[in-house]
Amino acid sequence: MIRKDDRPVLTVLKQLLLLLLLSVAVSCDKDPQWQALPLPALPDDTIHLRVANVINSRFPQLSDEQLQQVLDKTVLMVRQHFKLSVAFDKPKQITIQKLFDSLPEHVKKERRNEIVKFGAASNTDIINMRESIDGLINKYWDHRQAVIDYANPYLLTPIEGNDINQLSAALVGTLLKRLKYWQTQKAADGRPVIDDQPYNEWVWWDSLGYGEVPYDVVVTNQLVASAEMYDLSVHSSIRGGITAGTTTYSKQARYGSYVYIMVYPMLNDSEMLVELRDDKTYSSDQATTYAAALLTHEIGHQLLHLGHPFGNSNCIMSPTPLLKYRDWVDGLDASQCALNSEPSMTPGFVNIDYRADW
Ligand SMILES: [Zn+2]
Repeated sequence: MIRKDDRPVLTVLKQLLLLLLLSVAVSCDKDPQWQALPLPALPDDTIHLRVANVINSRFPQLSDEQLQQVLDKTVLMVRQHFKLSVAFDKPKQITIQKLFDSLPEHVKKERRNEIVKFGAASNTDIINMRESIDGLINKYWDHRQAVIDYANPYLLTPIEGNDINQLSAALVGTLLKRLKYWQTQKAADGRPVIDDQPYNEWVWWDSLGYGEVPYDVVVTNQLVASAEMYDLSVHSSIRGGITAGTTTYSKQARYGSYVYIMVYPMLNDSEMLVELRDDKTYSSDQATTYAAALLTHEIGHQLLHLGHPFGNSNCIMSPTPLLKYRDWVDGLDASQCALNSEPSMTPGFVNIDYRADW
């Protein structure tokens, strides 16, 4: 395992982009109970991964055929981009309620206060969120204009000048307002897309692995969009707190971590999704291809602990800008982004941390 301090030095631009866009659950907590997963020892032959299709019946879902297409396309992309052979077990369909029932009570207690109730964010919540972003930006003080230039086109109230206080206020404002949009949007059952259930909260998706989750890959039709006190980034803020996929610790996972991807942005055509992506609607082929690319990206984190080679749009490990899946997938070229071709494409580049005492 490569410790953070042993990593090759990144260029300033890459450090900045890494800061803005890192979506793997990597903790900054200094508590000694935080530990990093070792890089998995992979079999020489095919890597078998267990899949759950986690359904919230309130939202459109992939058909069984479409899910199989996602998995089949992922097998090809993983081979193409990482030279690994993976095979997926037959997906097991479970309800989102059943998945969330596996969250241990003690973990819920530990993490409950990390969630911002965005419909009624208090001044203290807003100050805490702004401080979280300020802390992030302060580390890159010399490059704050680049941060502003990156975020400004997507802010609901773009800022003038280079006042970081204005920027963090605008980012938190954009995050909360875009999140509240989902409370105004109705699902097919007539109730708001984000209701009083906890399923949209990223904190819980980042915590499920502490319970009994016997899967390596979770595909869900649930929208994961939320505000929290940790891992808040410029990138998720401008998207309105949407996190399309994450790789995070799971004690029952074969290789230490589980992956979730959500297909909500591919299967729904809400006004805001259209604004954040680049097509009014996706064909079935687009939806399954983009879901497969997203899953392949997360599997790069899961099996190889790869990072994000920002600025190299040939790389599937370079994150999707906003939700622009078409641009992202059309620009991929595995031959221009081989493993070990740069630090973030070298196995072991990122740490996936977990609480040993949970
Ligand atoms: Zn990623």
